[in-house]
Amino acid sequence: MAKEKCEICGEELRRGFMDKIVGTRVKIKDGGSNKFYFVCPVCQKEHGNGLKAKLKG
Ligand SMILES: [Zn+2]
Repeated sequence: MAKEKCEICGEELRRGFMDKIVGTRVKIKDGGSNKFYFVCPVCQKEHGNGLKAKLKG
């Protein structure tokens, strides 16, 4: 099974209750489709509202 990594820092994401990923999944529109990125809690906290802009790079 593939392990999800934080899109920003590359840290492997841990799994918590019910095997749910600890962190957040960010949805970004890319043309006509949506792309999903996983971000760890640390980066989520650090970038806050700028998270999407950071992911678009
Ligand atoms: Zn991170």
